[in-house]
Amino acid sequence: MSRVFNFSAGPAMLPEAVIKKASEEMLDWHGEGMSVMEMSHRGKAFMSIASKAEADLRTLMAIPDNYKVLFLQGGASMQFGAIPLNLLGDKKTADYINTGMWSKKAIAEAKRYCDVNVAASSEDSGFTTIPDFADWKLNPDAAYVHYTPNETIGGVEFDYIPDTGDVPLIADMSSTILSRPVDVSKFGMIYAGAQKNVGPAGLTLVIIRDDLLGHAADITPTMLNYKTHADADSMYNTPPTYSWYLAGLVFEWLLENGGLEAMGKINKSKSDKLYAAIDGNDFYANPVEKRYRSWMNVPFTLKDADLDAAFLEQAAAKGLATLKGHRSVGGMRASIYNAMPEAGVDTLVEFMAEFAKANG
Ligand SMILES: *Cc1c(COP(=O)(O)O)cnc(C)c1O
Repeated sequence: MSRVFNFSAGPAMLPEAVIKKASEEMLDWHGEGMSVMEMSHRGKAFMSIASKAEADLRTLMAIPDNYKVLFLQGGASMQFGAIPLNLLGDKKTADYINTGMWSKKAIAEAKRYCDVNVAASSEDSGFTTIPDFADWKLNPDAAYVHYTPNETIGGVEFDYIPDTGDVPLIADMSSTILSRPVDVSKFGMIYAGAQKNVGPAGLTLVIIRDDLLGHAADITPTMLNYKTHADADSMYNTPPTYSWYLAGLVFEWLLENGGLEAMGKINKSKSDKLYAAIDGNDFYANPVEKRYRSWMNVPFTLKDADLDAAFLEQAAAKGLATLKGHRSVGGMRASIYNAMPEAGVDTLVEFMAEFAKANG
């Protein structure tokens, strides 16, 4: 058996130690004589798995007590609709920041429920930067401000948390959650599909401040109402038990490896190396303004797109998998989440130099 360095944007690599542990516990979890997949979500064994995962996530992110953590299904995309339904209250309008493909999807869905004020956009730049905060046209009457701290496709990432005053700030952190420390108290709500930097697909995390619960529109489906899940500790119906368990193993792994402080340092180092390889060779290019380059998703192009297929093929032969860029951007994209070892980035950087030399 040999595992490759998998640069997929999601579902993405998981820490090898986590997959090993899960495989050891696969047939018989802690003497229960069954797999976690086969357990009742209301039984003592699974309840202990669930509450430990939540406690570990709270420790990792230093989540204040006045926030609920929900373990849901439906992906980040489901939240695009759930957010306006739950958070508009008696307001009619919400602010959105447009920094790329995922922002646009959130905006399109919100338009079904409210007046969307696009308070700032970097579309004119081809989504290669973040609009200057000083130029944002925020509406003081907005129910909330929604933004995407890391755009997974464009590889653009905020290096600060916008200050929206009393208007709750809502963040789609699908591709950046757990990559570095973050001050949760600055947010009304954080949400993330798990399959990038948390665990397997099928689980969505919602971290929401208490006072934002209980204001859902009457038409909100019970299953989309955050209060339903907050009141039932995410066990209103059957939660995604196995994904929840695996996310818990990832949280344990992160705590054992120095938490988010340590992850932030490693992620900075990994992305610095890769951007240096891109900038240091005119065979490669990345269009994003340096300050806003993503630590997690690094898109890059080759000097000649006709070489893309050869690049991908030779990379794969070296165990560097899934480097093909998103179809809307072209070129390559290396997603280097927490589970991508530094050695994976080193191997990629080495290969890029060799390939440029042979084809430049
Ligand atoms: C992947 C991604 C999504 C979509 O996630 P799903 O869980 O597939 O719905 C939304 N937002 C961002 C920033 C993403 O990276």
